[in-house]
Amino acid sequence: MKWQTTQQLKQLLCHLVEYPSISGTEAEVLLAQYITEQLCTLDYFRGNNKFVQLHPTGDGRYFVTALVKKAEQVRDTVILISHFDVVDVQDYGAWKDAAFSPEKLTERFYEQKQQLPSDVQADMEEGEWLFGRGVMDMKCGLALHMSLIEQACQGKFEGNLLLLTVPDEEVSSVGMRAAVPILVEMAEKYGLTYRLVLNSEPMFTRYPGDKANYIYTGSIGKVLPGFYCYGKETHVGEPFAGLNANFMAAQIANELEFNTDFCEVFSGEVSPPPTNLLQTD
Ligand SMILES: [Zn+2]
Repeated sequence: MKWQTTQQLKQLLCHLVEYPSISGTEAEVLLAQYITEQLCTLDYFRGNNKFVQLHPTGDGRYFVTALVKKAEQVRDTVILISHFDVVDVQDYGAWKDAAFSPEKLTERFYEQKQQLPSDVQADMEEGEWLFGRGVMDMKCGLALHMSLIEQACQGKFEGNLLLLTVPDEEVSSVGMRAAVPILVEMAEKYGLTYRLVLNSEPMFTRYPGDKANYIYTGSIGKVLPGFYCYGKETHVGEPFAGLNANFMAAQIANELEFNTDFCEVFSGEVSPPPTNLLQTD
């Protein structure tokens, strides 16, 4: 077994993180290939290599599926979903060059601990941490899924396991949107009944300082509204002759920000209110 012990999983995770797979970059493509190659090293897939597939998303990128079928007649299937792209590393500042080298970065963080925020320092004193872009979101989840696939290959589970890992989650979900019709196709082709989708994204605190660990169930929707704010140009010396489109956009941001009217409430659970991630003129 190659992806089971803590040490093995850490090593796999570091290899995944070493690909700087920022959405839209060459490394995002290379990582999809690497994941496929790694899965193909498992004995089960050597004999069934059509069960590991690199699928085109239609824009030069790829998503990966790996299916472990328990037996021909077994239909029940759990899908393991993850994404392998990450956001860029500008926010690492002086540590940017080490963002994709978790062991090196972690060493540097421990050496320069006094430069980090106090809550991070407190965390670091408490336990063992591994820092780096994509370690938590969400290559550790992908590593765990690969380890489950390895167990499934050994016959560990009752049903089938289908790993699906996609690019572009951090931008426009090109990977997941391309994957949906393929999931439908695979269900027909291999006689699969999808029973559960297990997403290994990290969990989040509900408020600053929240120490609870959460498992999320159900799903959450996503709405992408567009607002067209059309102003009227004028000279800065004659502001009253124009209408400022930035000001109009600011009014919309003001209406939306933390507005609980946009929270969804279901069974006593409340979705987080909207907050604006990016605004430009
Ligand atoms: Zn994520």
